[in-house]
Amino acid sequence: VSATAQPAAAARSLTNILSFDVEDWPQSTLDYSLPITERVRDNTLRVLDLLGAWRARGTFFVLGLVAEGFPDLVRRIRDDGHEVATHGHAHRPVDKMSPEEFRQDVRRSRDLIQQVLGETVIGYRAPDFSISGGALWAFEILSEEGLRYDSSIFPFAGPRYGVRAAFPRPFRVLTTHAPPLVEFPLTTITRLGRRLPAAGGGYFRLFPYVLTRRVIRSLNENGIEATSYFHPYEIDPDEIRKCPYPIPWSLRLSQGLLRSRVEAKLRRLLRDFRWAPARDFLARTAAITGGRVLDLTGPPKDGPRWREEA
Ligand SMILES: [Zn+2]
Repeated sequence: VSATAQPAAAARSLTNILSFDVEDWPQSTLDYSLPITERVRDNTLRVLDLLGAWRARGTFFVLGLVAEGFPDLVRRIRDDGHEVATHGHAHRPVDKMSPEEFRQDVRRSRDLIQQVLGETVIGYRAPDFSISGGALWAFEILSEEGLRYDSSIFPFAGPRYGVRAAFPRPFRVLTTHAPPLVEFPLTTITRLGRRLPAAGGGYFRLFPYVLTRRVIRSLNENGIEATSYFHPYEIDPDEIRKCPYPIPWSLRLSQGLLRSRVEAKLRRLLRDFRWAPARDFLARTAAITGGRVLDLTGPPKDGPRWREEA
């Protein structure tokens, strides 16, 4: 991306990773057996228009079921200059699958997208950041299946997900039988000694935009890129109200509140910072990882080793 393609206000900042998980909310959140609806297409098209207006490019982690139902949408994402990567096939959490089930889920989604695009898919993001501390075996399989990077690790001690021991910046993952992967962990900030999510999802939706801006600005000033994540459905304020399925009140609040503000906030985010797909960062990974490595090559009893290389 040339500097002139972005607004002048952003010229001094680093480029950050922009990403969207493309899924249909009822299917991914309420019941994995529900059909994929046209809302995912309509919401994603709105996101594409928004990004196009700001000439921002990103990575779209597309669910296999979405690629199956809406192949034209997947081609449109690619034709707009974005990267298409995989979000797995049916949104089942990695740490609830057996390794073999996980392999089939990744393979199925990757093959569907590759058939639609005629291009190789190199990136993966787990549903609900479900490559947890107990599911690091997933890296071995991703690597064996030909993926080159992953962006599923939330490096904090969350109630539902997160890997507290993980590095908060991109790192290499060494696996036993296959080439190393690169991990782009989701952005966190440290407050009172604890890391917290900071650049996407509920945090972005529920808190004032200036907080996100402050976090990313501060990271960029320290030479650190942010890895953001959003969902096309987050710009759809009517979805929860019109949803034909029963939704628990807790979910109505946690997933529906302030969706009406998200599009305007995204616009400000696109205006204030520079954005690019994750694949653009792979080439300079050697520099940005600073030698951080997750080593999975030892005997299983030793567990994973997080280390800094000289
Ligand atoms: Zn998802």
